[in-house]
Amino acid sequence: KPIDKQALICKLRENPEPNQENRTIEPDSKLTPVNIVFIGHVDAGKSTICGNILLLTNKIDKRLIETYEQEAKEKGRESWWLAYIMDQNEEERAKGKTVEVGRAFFETQSKRFTILDAPGHKAYVPNMINGASQAEYAALVISARISEFETGFERGGQTREHAMLAKSFGVTKLIVVINKMDDPSVNWSQERYEQIKKDMSPYLAESCKYNIEKDVEWVAISGINGDNILNKVSAEKAPWYTGSTLFEIFDRLPTPIRSPEEPLRIPIIDRVKDQGLTIYGKVESGLAVKGLRILIMPIKIKGEIVEIIGGEDTKLMYANPGENVKMRIKVPEEVDVQRGYVICDVHSVCHITNEFKADVQFLELPDPKMLITAGYNCVMHLHTDIQECEVTEVIALFDAEKKRKVKTAFCKSGQRVLLKIKTVNEVCIEKYTSLVQLGRFVLRDKGVTVGLGKIIEFTDQLEVED
Ligand code: GDP
Repeated sequence: KPIDKQALICKLRENPEPNQENRTIEPDSKLTPVNIVFIGHVDAGKSTICGNILLLTNKIDKRLIETYEQEAKEKGRESWWLAYIMDQNEEERAKGKTVEVGRAFFETQSKRFTILDAPGHKAYVPNMINGASQAEYAALVISARISEFETGFERGGQTREHAMLAKSFGVTKLIVVINKMDDPSVNWSQERYEQIKKDMSPYLAESCKYNIEKDVEWVAISGINGDNILNKVSAEKAPWYTGSTLFEIFDRLPTPIRSPEEPLRIPIIDRVKDQGLTIYGKVESGLAVKGLRILIMPIKIKGEIVEIIGGEDTKLMYANPGENVKMRIKVPEEVDVQRGYVICDVHSVCHITNEFKADVQFLELPDPKMLITAGYNCVMHLHTDIQECEVTEVIALFDAEKKRKVKTAFCKSGQRVLLKIKTVNEVCIEKYTSLVQLGRFVLRDKGVTVGLGKIIEFTDQLEVED
């Protein structure tokens, strides 16, 4: 029998907690919850920009900043902003907790943003994928400093791979943030800004398939002194700059349409055992309500949402789709809940399987002569899950020119094929057409992204014409 979540919410409204400290509140309905991931080559300025955003939106206590500044100086750390975000996690680690993806919150006029960051592992792509899998938007940070842009954009630099991964994980809007415009080697040069735009556009359009006109925004900033983050750069510095500030772009980004009526799906990002179980996750669909009975998939363990904690540790009665939350959950003590598991409504669960059919676009393989055949092993990243997998059958090749599928037993670098894939463990998935967040994945082999996939079928139902 379906659970009436609205009835549950009404009950919570009628019975406010007597203790002010424990009171649960309703999420602010005026602001749409959205998630953004900051990506780009190491040292492009991601942490500096995130830190400055938090400072400009009054999310960091002045005294705290002074403490961190002092500490950073003593430790000889160049970028104290990073320390700020990291230390929160170090503190949690000290208590025996682990949190792999850092989160911070800020608001603009229309939206409540969760910044997803992967502190300490910035060059570590799996964490970046984890962040990107939850984000609707990505800010691709580019250093305009002479030779830094070039290094990041070269083969082997992280700019290209990050832009590609973000797109394949459903980031629909990309903001290209051209940073370090204040650097003496750049000095707010319009020529440098235009050159970077010109160099990057073909890659974003052709290889990543972004619609440059519709889906990509550009902004020139100085992350360090804040120019063009919240306040416009002065006319003395950059008389030529007529574009928007980063915050103007944030505010006009289209908001995703989501329905709270859909079944609940929360892929678990991380979990911590501390007076019971606390999980971190983004509500990808449906409504999470305090007191709701849930089923944790694929292990089919029943549980209950005991507490929902939103940004800045506010206790929420419920969380809307799109909200990035921390939740206390009641499950039997011996249960080992892992990253990649999905929290579902007890009456309407996601699919679990270890074999499925998928439409996979292979990228340039590390060895261009390599053939993908049945028996090929690689690693699959699907929402927050990471699984070893094997191609069990190469079924058909998508012949783009002839617009049809052709039976085949192998494929090469750059080709798009229909495959059967088997994972070592059962995974929580949906068809790409029913819930994209649980229906897309990337394949990586020896630390390189080799393919982008969409889940088509769970069973042998697909017809192949030849
Ligand atoms: P991340 O690796 O992308 O997170 O980069 P960081 O934020 O740690 O910054 C790397 C280095 O670039 C640090 O030394 C920063 O102080 C410097 N940096 C970041 N933003 C700017 C900027 O806007 N202008 C200048 N001149 N330096 C910057």
